[in-house]
Amino acid sequence: DAALAAAAAPPPADSPTIFDKIINKEIPAKVVYEDDKVFAFRDIAPQAPTHILLIPKIKDGLTGLSQAEERHCEILGQLLYAAKLVAKQEGLGDGFRVVINDGPDGSQSVYHLHLHLLGGRQMNWPPG
Ligand code: ADP
Repeated sequence: DAALAAAAAPPPADSPTIFDKIINKEIPAKVVYEDDKVFAFRDIAPQAPTHILLIPKIKDGLTGLSQAEERHCEILGQLLYAAKLVAKQEGLGDGFRVVINDGPDGSQSVYHLHLHLLGGRQMNWPPG
């Protein structure tokens, strides 16, 4: 189940994930934004009225943020900037939240770096 999956050890960096199939359009997704390096689509299990995932089109070893190297600085910045663009596109003028879950303690379940963009309701702190 989801709890077990989240607690499992991360797979090797080059293992494909379901997000590769989404990028390659082998499985459908509701795409909301795309540029040369970033792909963004609606989460299949939304936790807020707006729940979008932003991912690098090329994983380049970025299973998660903890695996970031200096060469990834540009794509990391591009992902954050794309989150801002998508937030505006989604009409989230009153605010939003960006989340990166990393590793078992962060409840990461898909090992292809992704930003969650959440909005359209009041977010609470601390998160669960
Ligand atoms: P968690 O599952 O704990 O949220 P992650 O941060 O790894 O962990 O998030 C993976 C996200 O990917 C989840 O929000 C999940 O709903 C979403 N997801 C999984 N499969 C798909 C899919 N086929 N299309 C869209 N979103 C998906």
